[in-house]
Amino acid sequence: MVSGVQMTPNRAEKLVLVAAGSSQAGLQRAVNEDHLATPEGMDSELLARRGHLYLVADGMGGHAAGEQASALAVSTVMEAYYGHPSLDPAQALTEAIRQANAAVYRQAQHPETAGMGSTVVAALVRGRDLYIAHVGDSRAYLIRGQTIRQITQDHSWVAEQVKAGLLSEEEARRHPQRNVVTRSLGSGPEVEVDLSCERLRPGDAVLLCSDGLTNEVGDEEIRQIVAGNDPQEAANQLVELAQQRGGSDDVTALVIGIRRARRPALVDRLKLSRFAPIVGGVAIAAIILTALYLALPFIKSLMPAAIPSPSPTAVAVVSTPTPPPSVSATTPTATPSPSTPTPTATPMPQPSPTVVMLPTPTVEELHQSLHEPWAAGDWEKVIGIVKQILTINPDNAEMVEKLYAAHVNYGHQLVAEGRPEEAKLEFTHALEVKPDGGEAILAMQALEASETPVPSAISTPAAQPIIHVVQQGEWLWAIARRYGTTAQAIMEANGLTSETIHPGQELRIPVQ
Ligand code: CA
Repeated sequence: MVSGVQMTPNRAEKLVLVAAGSSQAGLQRAVNEDHLATPEGMDSELLARRGHLYLVADGMGGHAAGEQASALAVSTVMEAYYGHPSLDPAQALTEAIRQANAAVYRQAQHPETAGMGSTVVAALVRGRDLYIAHVGDSRAYLIRGQTIRQITQDHSWVAEQVKAGLLSEEEARRHPQRNVVTRSLGSGPEVEVDLSCERLRPGDAVLLCSDGLTNEVGDEEIRQIVAGNDPQEAANQLVELAQQRGGSDDVTALVIGIRRARRPALVDRLKLSRFAPIVGGVAIAAIILTALYLALPFIKSLMPAAIPSPSPTAVAVVSTPTPPPSVSATTPTATPSPSTPTPTATPMPQPSPTVVMLPTPTVEELHQSLHEPWAAGDWEKVIGIVKQILTINPDNAEMVEKLYAAHVNYGHQLVAEGRPEEAKLEFTHALEVKPDGGEAILAMQALEASETPVPSAISTPAAQPIIHVVQQGEWLWAIARRYGTTAQAIMEANGLTSETIHPGQELRIPVQ
């Protein structure tokens, strides 16, 4: 069974999910007791509100009861999650799995399906947040660049032996008791659900799989296959490889690729989408005018008396010199000074030398136009204007400083917005401007430190945490900056799900 490819643009976060799965019965088995589920075909508005939920379940129990158990598990979790009254993803997901446990447990009381049970592993992607919940030994992995990390801890007898140092990973994989799970859906009226949260980045991939895969295929092999293929191909290859290795158990792999949304060409890149009709109109008008103008000598040669010789001021094509990319990132309303012409930033044909160029803003005007965005903290705009000044006057030391500061400030802002990848880029730009820039170096280090997985509470040495009491008007990112950490790190340390903080609130500041 192979599920289709699903693409869901999430405009606010500019992420696209591409998910595909493959599931095959074990070689000597009549039925596949694994099930997977994706939210494919669901209402897009519901998905935007509740996120995308993916599931893998591995059923157990004789006489096809295992197959029923895993089917019941995935259908109940899906239904219960999307129908849950709570919009809190962690709560809704945990309770949905508990409901699935109750459903399987009820079914397991019937004599013909007695003893049925199922594992379940769930990946919920909401914005950039990934929630992983599980019961049993089906796993979730996060594949990021050259690394693979098992997010879930198996609820199995062998995993406990490994944890206690009594078995190695490899021994566990071959152990005759490897299929014994210590926690499953259906074995009791209540079940404890493990839940964790990760922050996704474009380029990540998440794998959900049953033990039929992980008993046969090692983590590094999994990483290579997932990293080197699109989700569908990766899922197929993983399942095939497990079957080639013996594959007596059912095998399921569901791969979710996290991609940055491809930006629709120049208009969006310039952040002009709202102005698209205007920009489009201006572009067409400009092209027509330019074409007409260029054609004038030819028309004139046909009708020498009819058209007067064009004067240089006859064509009002507004054109700025080809702007550097970051300049074009400014919005079209970037000119507070009324005397400054509005740059159209429109993709236009290269103006012919005879086309009249309206004056580009003077350095003085550009300086003036800096105040407002600087005060407002509109760093993208500041960077655009400063770069314009520097193209005219490259040795302006004050502007070099400003460019550096703007990149650093913009980087901090992006960190606070939970966009670390883009923040990194800004700090990199800052260091290009000023390679010894202390703040950019520190910010970069803080970002890299926040990327390393936070060790579990048990293994953390008891460092004295700093407690910060929030003052009136304080922003989370500003607090993070003061302590040389990130808003994300503070959120994680305090279990916050949003950046909203209130005066008097005590925040635990993670010690770096
Ligand atoms: Ca299995």
